[in-house]
Amino acid sequence: MSEVKHTGTKHPLASGAPEHEAVTRRRPLGVMAALPDELGDLVAAMRAEGDVRTVAHGQRDYHVGTVHGAPCVVTLARIGKVAAAATVSALIHVFDIDAVVFTGVAGGVGRDVQIGDIVVAHTLMQHDLDASPLFPRFEVPLLGISRFAADATLAARLAAACEDFVEREGRALATRFSTAPPRVHRGLVISGDQFIASAAAVNALRAALPDALAVEMEGAAIAQVCYEYGVPCAIVRTISDTADVHAPASFSTFLVEIAGTYSSGILRRFLQARG
Ligand code: SAH
Repeated sequence: MSEVKHTGTKHPLASGAPEHEAVTRRRPLGVMAALPDELGDLVAAMRAEGDVRTVAHGQRDYHVGTVHGAPCVVTLARIGKVAAAATVSALIHVFDIDAVVFTGVAGGVGRDVQIGDIVVAHTLMQHDLDASPLFPRFEVPLLGISRFAADATLAARLAAACEDFVEREGRALATRFSTAPPRVHRGLVISGDQFIASAAAVNALRAALPDALAVEMEGAAIAQVCYEYGVPCAIVRTISDTADVHAPASFSTFLVEIAGTYSSGILRRFLQARG
């Protein structure tokens, strides 16, 4: 992680060294999820490790501290693209984060993506963005981009954490939650402001975007904001449902019973390695 020298005016939310002294400090990693269950034990682990400063900003709580040896700002975005974009903007501008990792659940879209599998985004796009015929379908108007890349290094480290998690805990998880042994996929994650919960809707997405692995409601918005500000980001999703008629029940059960176990296991490995 990079070291940055901060001089001059102290930010109103900053703490620590006096204003007149040049301070060298490590910039924190932003860690986000949409819903509390998706963060697992992260805030508790941060509290167990030392002081946590909780800053209320824009109707969200930002927890500033160290977790698994890594300086982090941990927060919840709530659901949807606007909520995610607003939250990641605050992480960048108010909390001066170095990079962002988003963890959560998603609907499986790829044909071999099963409930309990993990998808690490390689690229992300907004499946509901359509300003055609003025601009090509899916393209962000005036930016000229439809697919945003996750940071390759960060995504590779996240995928390595997922592989280790699955290797060591996958069999036990499959038995405990009656799922197939989980697998880790890497590829396209698509985002939109809809909970996809019918065969017709998920088949339409498959037809339009045959390489999509998972569908959710925040990732591509985060990737766009991070692209625009030059901040590295990575997104990991555990598959809670297959975006069909069973999705509401499957999502709800998975969220409450399983999502936290995955996030805790993956983030612990990722943050310890980053440490
Ligand atoms: N009714 C739920 C709303 C869930 S929205 C509630 O009251 O809490 C679903 C959340 O999980 C979003 O944050 C989204 O990113 C993700 N997600 C999981 N499965 C999804 C699916 N099939 N379609 C879209 N988003 C999904």
